[in-house]
This record gives sequence, C-alpha cells and structure tokens, in this order.
Amino acid sequence: MIKAAQLKENATVADMIGNGEWKWPTEWKERIVELTNVVVPNLENQLDDRLVWVNKKGVETKFSVGNVWNDTREYGNKVQWAKMVWYTQCIPSHAFVVWLAMRGRLNTQDKLAKWYPENEFECVFCKNQSDSVCHLFFYCEYSSWIWKEVKKKVKGSDIPNEWEKIVTWFINSKCPNKVWNVVQRLVFAASVYWIWRERNSRIFKKIVIPKETIKEKIVECVKLRILSLKFKQCTTYEELKENWEINMAEHRPRL
Ligand SMILES: [Zn+2]
Repeated sequence: MIKAAQLKENATVADMIGNGEWKWPTEWKERIVELTNVVVPNLENQLDDRLVWVNKKGVETKFSVGNVWNDTREYGNKVQWAKMVWYTQCIPSHAFVVWLAMRGRLNTQDKLAKWYPENEFECVFCKNQSDSVCHLFFYCEYSSWIWKEVKKKVKGSDIPNEWEKIVTWFINSKCPNKVWNVVQRLVFAASVYWIWRERNSRIFKKIVIPKETIKEKIVECVKLRILSLKFKQCTTYEELKENWEINMAEHRPRL
C-alpha cells in the first residue's frame, strides 16, 4: 500500500516538481517503476491545476466519472431489442426485470428443474406446469387475462400474446417514439414486472393478490408515468388522455 501521507495535504503538481524533475516519494519510485517514464510537464505558474482526462483517442477532455466509464468499459454489440427495454420514458425498475427476462436471467422453474431434478415444480398461478418466461408472459391463464385486459388500454389488439412473438412485434414496430408505442412498451414492462413480483410474492411470502388487482396496479403505475411525461399536443395525445381517463386540470399542482 502506498502512503498518500508522504505528500503534503492539498499538494499540487507544482509541489511535485523541482528543477525540472519529478519529486516522487522514494517508496513510490520503488513500487511503481512506470513513474520514471512520466514526462515532466512545463508548468505555467499563473494557471491553477485542473483535472483532465485523456480519452482513448488521445484527446484531452474534461475529467468526469462518466467520461472515464465510457472510455474504460467494454462495448458489446447492440441487441435488436434494446429500444424495447431501454428508452427515455421507461420505468427503470420495470425495464430491469424485462432486461433480465430477455437475457434469460430470471430464475424461472424450468431452469430450477434442471438444477434440482428431484424436485417437482408447478406454476403458482395455474398449478398446471412449471413456469418459464414464455409461460409467465403470457401463456398462463392468470397472466394471459391480465395481458389481454391491459392491451385494451394501449390500442394493442394487434400485439401478440406469446413472449417470442411480442418481442418480434416490438422490434419490428415502426416509429418507436410515437405516443402509443411508448405507452405500449410501458404497459408491457409493467405487466412483466408486476406478474413477476406477484409470482415471487406467492412463492416466498405466501401472499396472494387477485389478477384484477394486479391489472389495476399496472394501469396505475403507467398512468402515473404518463402524467409525468410531456407529449406534444396532437390528436393521438388527446386519444391517449381519453383512454387513460386523464384530466390534466385535475393533476395540475395546486398553488
Ligand atoms: Zn401458470
């Protein structure tokens, strides 16, 4: 461990250089041989020290955690479904569960059955079979009812009811910034989030909430999100407000 205390408090670069040479503490020089290769800068005494970051293109930029993270993190290929999960208006906690599902990281019973072959699993909603992403979203009779109900709120009659087909539908849907498309993605993510949460609550807390209540929770969450967003005044927005029973006058903050 290198002792920072070997430098005086609030030491500046000027304190670290003398007679055109670095004044590294001896222990630093022994431990970090690369220090001998650091070029001694030409100091302009009238200027204060400032932190800079030399990015991966070699250009000096403002130092920020964001810049450092973007330069040092690994970039993967962008997946086709990225916009279905992450978008400006998304609810992060909901998007996170959808992302886990897309990545195959939800610990559904079809996976657990492979790890514990001696155990028997059954879906907590229908008790007909073990659950899986496809079963929960939205093959199971419990979630299927919820999904069909909430689709009515988003002009979603042409959105399919099976996981794989829903993902393909969102990937192929044009104009991802249109009002209805945003609300469709919000409702999809909220449905996945609340059904997954209810599934876990039944397994781990033995608390049962009827499907009608889960539907209401999805609608309530998305409605609150819609109220926090700014949409351009247009006929689509008027349609949306009508469908979601949104009266902006009621929701204006009182002075
Ligand atoms: Zn089921």
